[in-house]
Amino acid sequence: MARTLGPVCKRCRREGVKLFLKGSRCESAQCPFEKTKDKKPTPPGMHGFKRGKMTEYGEQLREKQKVKTYYGVLESQFRKYYQAAERSKGNTGQVLMAFLERRLDNVVYRLGFASSRAQARQLIAHGHICVNGRRLDIPSYLIRPNDVISLKAHNYQGAKASRQGAKGIVEFALEQFKGRELPEFLARKEGEGTPTGVVVRYPSFEDVSLQVQPQLIVELCSK
Ligand code: SF4
Repeated sequence: MARTLGPVCKRCRREGVKLFLKGSRCESAQCPFEKTKDKKPTPPGMHGFKRGKMTEYGEQLREKQKVKTYYGVLESQFRKYYQAAERSKGNTGQVLMAFLERRLDNVVYRLGFASSRAQARQLIAHGHICVNGRRLDIPSYLIRPNDVISLKAHNYQGAKASRQGAKGIVEFALEQFKGRELPEFLARKEGEGTPTGVVVRYPSFEDVSLQVQPQLIVELCSK
């Protein structure tokens, strides 16, 4: 599983928005964006704000990089989503965002089973997540309506809720999630047994929680 290494908060500073890459830290006062409520955190690099006005190409590129960082996808994967969106009916940019929203790692995160998309990806890759009762270890799987997402029962029931174990991770994430709204395309069941999520419908552009201008991405990718 390819991933981007290096400082994480730097990526948010580069885009100038919170991308929620670090789980609980993103909601706490430790987030650089919280410390600087009155002024924008400076972009990384020696010259910070001294950089000149961004070109049209620069704006398009930053928008694309922001989306890739937010969903944790690499360039080659992103291109595949773009090509699929281009072939689909409807507004290419909005369809592209809806495709990204359908990724299993995003859905596990948005259900509140993980504190970040990166943690959701790890839970999936380590075999803790089932879709329709069967273990699925592909974070890029695209969910469909009526898919049931659950935690692998034997990893959950009877397991100790240690901070490192799958049960501890999910319980901690669900605790953190309290008070946050579940997106309309998902439903969650809790109580006896393992927490379960159900996909109610396909996500649409309106379900995307990131402020994004998809037309800038389309302008860049269609060049
Ligand atoms: Fe770092 Fe999270 Fe804040 Fe981004 S949102 S700057 S990842 S703490």
